[in-house]
Amino acid sequence: MAPSVAFMAPTPLVRRARAGRAMSIGVGPRPRSVLPSRVGRDVHSTAKVSMASSSLNELFVNNLEWSKKMTDQDENYFSQHVGGQTPEYLWIGCSDSRVPANLIVGLPPGALFVHRNVGNVVSHSDLNVLSAIEFSVKVLKVRHILVVGHDYCGAVTAAMNDERVGVVDHWLTHIRDIRRRHAVQLSQIEDYELRRDRLVQLNVLEQVHNTCATPAVQAAWNAGQPVSVHGWIYRLQDGLVRDLGFRVDGPEGIDTVYRTVEPRVLSGKGKLPEVSEV
Ligand SMILES: [Zn+2]
Repeated sequence: MAPSVAFMAPTPLVRRARAGRAMSIGVGPRPRSVLPSRVGRDVHSTAKVSMASSSLNELFVNNLEWSKKMTDQDENYFSQHVGGQTPEYLWIGCSDSRVPANLIVGLPPGALFVHRNVGNVVSHSDLNVLSAIEFSVKVLKVRHILVVGHDYCGAVTAAMNDERVGVVDHWLTHIRDIRRRHAVQLSQIEDYELRRDRLVQLNVLEQVHNTCATPAVQAAWNAGQPVSVHGWIYRLQDGLVRDLGFRVDGPEGIDTVYRTVEPRVLSGKGKLPEVSEV
Protein backbone atom coordinates (compact mmCIF):
# COMPACT_ATOMS: atom_id res chain seq x y z
CA MET A 1 0.00 0.00 0.00
CA ALA A 2 1.33 3.43 -0.92
CA PRO A 3 2.35 5.60 2.05
CA SER A 4 -0.23 8.17 3.02
CA VAL A 5 0.40 11.88 3.11
CA ALA A 6 0.26 11.74 6.88
CA PHE A 7 3.26 9.42 6.97
CA MET A 8 5.21 11.56 4.54
CA ALA A 9 4.62 14.84 6.34
CA PRO A 10 6.66 14.56 9.56
CA THR A 11 10.17 14.89 8.18
CA PRO A 12 9.94 18.45 6.83
CA LEU A 13 7.66 19.49 9.66
CA VAL A 14 10.06 18.21 12.27
CA ARG A 15 12.84 20.11 10.58
CA ARG A 16 10.76 23.28 10.68
CA ALA A 17 9.56 22.61 14.20
CA ARG A 18 13.16 22.17 15.29
CA ALA A 19 13.93 25.59 13.89
CA GLY A 20 10.91 26.91 15.74
CA ARG A 21 12.04 25.29 18.96
CA ALA A 22 15.35 27.08 18.80
CA MET A 23 13.34 30.26 19.01
CA SER A 24 10.86 29.02 21.57
CA ILE A 25 12.90 27.29 24.27
CA GLY A 26 14.24 29.57 26.91
CA VAL A 27 14.09 32.75 24.88
CA GLY A 28 10.61 34.19 24.95
CA PRO A 29 7.19 32.90 23.97
CA ARG A 30 6.69 30.06 21.53
CA PRO A 31 5.87 31.25 17.99
CA ARG A 32 2.31 30.55 16.91
CA SER A 33 3.56 28.94 13.70
CA VAL A 34 6.96 28.06 12.37
CA LEU A 35 5.72 27.24 8.90
CA PRO A 36 6.93 29.39 6.03
CA SER A 37 4.56 32.05 4.78
CA ARG A 38 2.38 31.19 1.81
CA VAL A 39 2.24 34.54 0.07
CA GLY A 40 0.95 34.43 -3.47
CA ARG A 41 -1.16 31.26 -3.18
CA ASP A 42 -4.91 30.92 -3.27
CA VAL A 43 -6.22 32.89 -0.30
CA HIS A 44 -9.01 30.52 0.70
CA SER A 45 -7.10 27.24 0.46
CA THR A 46 -4.07 28.86 2.08
CA ALA A 47 -6.13 29.93 5.06
CA LYS A 48 -7.39 26.40 5.58
CA VAL A 49 -3.95 24.84 5.16
CA SER A 50 -2.32 27.37 7.47
CA MET A 51 -4.82 26.78 10.24
CA ALA A 52 -4.40 23.01 10.05
CA SER A 53 -0.63 23.15 9.71
CA SER A 54 -0.29 25.60 12.56
CA SER A 55 -2.28 23.28 14.79
CA LEU A 56 -0.30 20.21 13.78
CA ASN A 57 2.99 22.03 13.96
CA GLU A 58 2.37 22.68 17.63
CA LEU A 59 2.34 18.92 18.15
CA PHE A 60 5.78 18.55 16.63
CA VAL A 61 7.09 21.41 18.75
CA ASN A 62 5.60 19.78 21.85
CA ASN A 63 7.14 16.48 20.82
CA LEU A 64 10.59 17.98 20.45
CA GLU A 65 10.34 19.66 23.82
CA TRP A 66 9.21 16.44 25.48
CA SER A 67 11.98 14.44 23.84
CA LYS A 68 14.57 16.95 25.02
CA LYS A 69 13.14 17.07 28.53
CA MET A 70 13.25 13.29 28.88
CA THR A 71 16.77 12.88 27.52
CA ASP A 72 17.98 15.75 29.69
CA GLN A 73 16.80 13.75 32.70
CA ASP A 74 18.09 10.41 31.39
CA GLU A 75 20.15 10.12 28.26
CA ASN A 76 19.02 6.49 27.85
CA TYR A 77 15.31 7.27 28.33
CA PHE A 78 14.42 6.35 24.75
CA SER A 79 17.33 4.17 23.67
CA GLN A 80 16.60 1.68 26.46
CA HIS A 81 13.39 0.69 24.65
CA VAL A 82 14.98 -0.16 21.33
CA GLY A 83 15.69 -3.75 22.30
CA GLY A 84 12.08 -4.61 23.16
CA GLN A 85 9.37 -4.23 25.76
CA THR A 86 8.48 -6.05 28.97
CA PRO A 87 5.26 -4.43 30.22
CA GLU A 88 3.59 -6.02 33.20
CA TYR A 89 0.13 -4.71 32.35
CA LEU A 90 -2.34 -4.71 29.49
CA TRP A 91 -4.78 -1.77 29.60
CA ILE A 92 -8.07 -2.22 27.73
CA GLY A 93 -9.83 1.13 27.84
CA CYS A 94 -12.05 3.56 25.99
CA SER A 95 -10.77 5.69 23.11
CA ASP A 96 -12.13 8.79 24.85
CA SER A 97 -9.53 11.58 24.73
CA ARG A 98 -10.15 12.31 28.41
CA VAL A 99 -8.85 8.92 29.47
CA PRO A 100 -5.07 8.86 28.84
CA ALA A 101 -3.92 5.44 30.02
CA ASN A 102 -0.25 6.03 30.86
CA LEU A 103 -0.90 9.41 32.48
CA ILE A 104 -3.64 8.06 34.75
CA VAL A 105 -1.48 5.36 36.30
CA GLY A 106 1.81 7.24 36.00
CA LEU A 107 3.64 4.69 33.92
CA PRO A 108 6.42 5.52 31.43
CA PRO A 109 6.81 4.13 27.91
CA GLY A 110 7.42 0.40 27.97
CA ALA A 111 5.43 -0.30 31.13
CA LEU A 112 1.87 -0.48 29.81
CA PHE A 113 0.59 -2.32 26.73
CA VAL A 114 -2.52 -0.44 25.62
CA HIS A 115 -5.59 -1.30 23.59
CA ARG A 116 -8.37 1.27 23.31
CA ASN A 117 -11.63 1.29 21.42
CA VAL A 118 -15.03 2.94 21.64
CA GLY A 119 -16.60 1.83 24.90
CA ASN A 120 -13.74 -0.49 26.02
CA VAL A 121 -15.42 -3.49 24.42
CA VAL A 122 -13.87 -6.96 24.24
CA SER A 123 -15.72 -8.60 21.38
CA HIS A 124 -15.11 -12.23 20.47
CA SER A 125 -15.14 -11.28 16.79
CA ASP A 126 -12.83 -8.26 17.00
CA LEU A 127 -9.43 -9.36 15.70
CA ASN A 128 -7.92 -6.12 16.95
CA VAL A 129 -8.58 -6.64 20.65
CA LEU A 130 -8.09 -10.41 20.37
CA SER A 131 -4.68 -9.84 18.81
CA ALA A 132 -3.72 -7.36 21.51
CA ILE A 133 -4.74 -9.81 24.22
CA GLU A 134 -2.99 -12.77 22.63
CA PHE A 135 0.22 -10.88 21.92
CA SER A 136 0.42 -9.32 25.37
CA VAL A 137 -0.37 -12.56 27.19
CA LYS A 138 1.41 -15.10 25.01
CA VAL A 139 4.47 -13.12 23.94
CA LEU A 140 4.89 -10.30 26.46
CA LYS A 141 3.65 -12.38 29.40
CA VAL A 142 1.77 -9.53 31.04
CA ARG A 143 0.78 -10.33 34.61
CA HIS A 144 -2.36 -8.18 34.84
CA ILE A 145 -5.08 -7.20 32.37
CA LEU A 146 -6.92 -4.02 33.35
CA VAL A 147 -10.34 -3.49 31.77
CA VAL A 148 -11.08 0.17 32.41
CA GLY A 149 -14.38 1.96 31.86
CA HIS A 150 -15.11 5.57 32.77
CA ASP A 151 -17.97 7.82 33.82
CA TYR A 152 -19.68 10.08 31.27
CA CYS A 153 -18.73 7.58 28.56
CA GLY A 154 -20.22 8.65 25.23
CA ALA A 155 -20.51 5.06 24.02
CA VAL A 156 -22.47 3.97 27.08
CA THR A 157 -24.60 7.12 26.93
CA ALA A 158 -25.48 6.44 23.28
CA ALA A 159 -26.38 2.86 24.16
CA MET A 160 -28.53 4.14 27.02
CA ASN A 161 -30.37 6.75 24.98
CA ASP A 162 -31.10 4.72 21.85
CA GLU A 163 -29.21 7.31 19.86
CA ARG A 164 -28.43 6.47 16.26
CA VAL A 165 -25.07 7.73 15.03
CA GLY A 166 -24.03 5.57 12.09
CA VAL A 167 -21.62 2.70 11.64
CA VAL A 168 -20.68 2.89 15.30
CA ASP A 169 -24.21 1.70 16.14
CA HIS A 170 -23.14 -1.78 15.06
CA TRP A 171 -20.34 -1.62 17.60
CA LEU A 172 -22.53 -0.15 20.33
CA THR A 173 -24.85 -3.12 20.00
CA HIS A 174 -22.36 -4.94 22.21
CA ILE A 175 -23.22 -2.50 25.00
CA ARG A 176 -26.93 -2.52 24.16
CA ASP A 177 -26.85 -6.30 24.59
CA ILE A 178 -25.56 -5.75 28.12
CA ARG A 179 -28.28 -3.19 28.77
CA ARG A 180 -30.89 -5.73 27.65
CA ARG A 181 -29.30 -8.53 29.68
CA HIS A 182 -29.48 -6.44 32.85
CA ALA A 183 -32.72 -4.59 32.02
CA VAL A 184 -34.47 -5.56 35.26
CA GLN A 185 -31.66 -4.32 37.46
CA LEU A 186 -31.26 -1.10 35.48
CA SER A 187 -35.00 -0.38 35.48
CA GLN A 188 -34.93 -0.29 39.27
CA ILE A 189 -32.59 2.71 39.26
CA GLU A 190 -34.70 5.84 38.79
CA ASP A 191 -31.97 8.44 38.59
CA TYR A 192 -30.62 8.65 35.04
CA GLU A 193 -27.03 9.43 36.03
CA LEU A 194 -26.90 6.56 38.50
CA ARG A 195 -28.44 4.22 35.92
CA ARG A 196 -25.83 5.21 33.38
CA ASP A 197 -23.05 4.76 35.93
CA ARG A 198 -24.38 1.28 36.64
CA LEU A 199 -24.33 0.42 32.94
CA VAL A 200 -20.72 1.63 32.80
CA GLN A 201 -19.91 -0.80 35.62
CA LEU A 202 -21.87 -3.66 34.06
CA ASN A 203 -20.09 -3.08 30.78
CA VAL A 204 -16.71 -3.38 32.51
CA LEU A 205 -17.75 -6.59 34.29
CA GLU A 206 -19.01 -8.12 31.05
CA GLN A 207 -15.80 -7.18 29.23
CA VAL A 208 -13.73 -8.71 32.04
CA HIS A 209 -15.68 -11.90 31.53
CA ASN A 210 -15.19 -11.72 27.77
CA THR A 211 -11.46 -11.24 28.30
CA CYS A 212 -11.30 -14.28 30.55
CA ALA A 213 -13.13 -16.34 27.92
CA THR A 214 -10.63 -15.58 25.15
CA PRO A 215 -8.58 -18.57 23.96
CA ALA A 216 -5.37 -16.66 24.75
CA VAL A 217 -6.20 -16.17 28.43
CA GLN A 218 -7.65 -19.66 28.74
CA ALA A 219 -4.50 -21.15 27.21
CA ALA A 220 -2.32 -19.19 29.62
CA TRP A 221 -4.26 -20.47 32.61
CA ASN A 222 -4.19 -24.03 31.28
CA ALA A 223 -0.41 -23.75 31.04
CA GLY A 224 -0.14 -22.46 34.60
CA GLN A 225 0.83 -18.95 33.54
CA PRO A 226 -0.30 -16.39 36.12
CA VAL A 227 -2.64 -13.80 34.61
CA SER A 228 -5.19 -11.74 36.53
CA VAL A 229 -8.01 -9.79 34.91
CA HIS A 230 -9.37 -6.74 36.75
CA GLY A 231 -12.37 -4.44 36.35
CA TRP A 232 -11.73 -0.74 36.97
CA ILE A 233 -13.59 2.55 36.55
CA TYR A 234 -11.80 5.84 35.90
CA ARG A 235 -13.63 8.93 37.15
CA LEU A 236 -13.35 12.04 35.03
CA GLN A 237 -14.55 14.17 37.93
CA ASP A 238 -11.52 13.63 40.14
CA GLY A 239 -9.03 11.65 38.05
CA LEU A 240 -9.20 8.67 40.39
CA VAL A 241 -9.38 4.99 39.50
CA ARG A 242 -11.85 2.82 41.35
CA ASP A 243 -11.33 -0.93 41.57
CA LEU A 244 -14.69 -2.67 41.17
CA GLY A 245 -13.34 -5.58 43.17
CA PHE A 246 -13.97 -7.92 40.27
CA ARG A 247 -10.77 -9.88 39.73
CA VAL A 248 -10.37 -13.21 37.99
CA ASP A 249 -7.17 -15.24 38.47
CA GLY A 250 -8.13 -18.51 36.83
CA PRO A 251 -10.73 -20.48 34.85
CA GLU A 252 -12.69 -21.26 38.01
CA GLY A 253 -13.62 -17.59 38.15
CA ILE A 254 -15.88 -17.68 35.11
CA ASP A 255 -18.88 -19.70 33.96
CA THR A 256 -18.01 -23.27 32.97
CA VAL A 257 -19.58 -22.72 29.56
CA TYR A 258 -16.65 -20.50 28.64
CA ARG A 259 -13.88 -22.69 30.01
CA THR A 260 -11.73 -24.61 27.60
CA VAL A 261 -9.39 -27.53 28.13
CA GLU A 262 -6.00 -28.50 26.81
CA PRO A 263 -6.06 -29.59 23.15
CA ARG A 264 -6.72 -33.29 22.87
CA VAL A 265 -3.78 -35.55 22.05
CA LEU A 266 -4.46 -37.96 19.20
CA SER A 267 -4.05 -41.63 20.11
CA GLY A 268 -3.10 -43.87 17.22
CA LYS A 269 -2.54 -42.85 13.64
CA GLY A 270 -5.11 -40.29 12.64
CA LYS A 271 -7.63 -41.43 15.24
CA LEU A 272 -9.47 -39.37 17.76
CA PRO A 273 -9.33 -40.69 21.32
CA GLU A 274 -12.30 -42.60 22.69
CA VAL A 275 -14.69 -40.52 24.74
CA SER A 276 -13.69 -42.41 27.90
CA GLU A 277 -10.04 -41.41 27.37
CA VAL A 278 -10.79 -37.71 27.31
ZN1 LIG B 1 -15.91 6.12 26.76
